Amino acid sequence: MKINNLPNKIKIFDTVFRIKYVDRLMTDSGGYIRGTVHYISGEIEISLKDHKNCDRCETLIWRTLWHEIFHAVLDAIHRDYNTSSETSKEDLVCMLSSAVNTICFDNGISFKSENING
Ligand SMILES: [Zn+2]
Repeated sequence: MKINNLPNKIKIFDTVFRIKYVDRLMTDSGGYIRGTVHYISGEIEISLKDHKNCDRCETLIWRTLWHEIFHAVLDAIHRDYNTSSETSKEDLVCMLSSAVNTICFDNGISFKSENING
């Protein structure tokens, strides 16, 4: 999997998140995850391989990236966001990241990380 076309940072409101790509992200308890956001350190991590250790396709990697971006967006606007349930927040993030990912791929929209200051 080449990661040349994937951004290495993204500015979300006031924070520039570094984006790290790793083979397989694991939770502390040993479960596989596709991506995660570290709000304190300003870092997004994305798995390049799936739970079976096979390469994930670029579209799915982008979808995970959008998923984590929307987690960061929701975190940033947390006080205005009126959903108490983590489940519905996860559903909303899934819906939004999938929609934006499809729109970007269908319209040839991509990011150039060198254009982002910070
Ligand atoms: Zn999530």
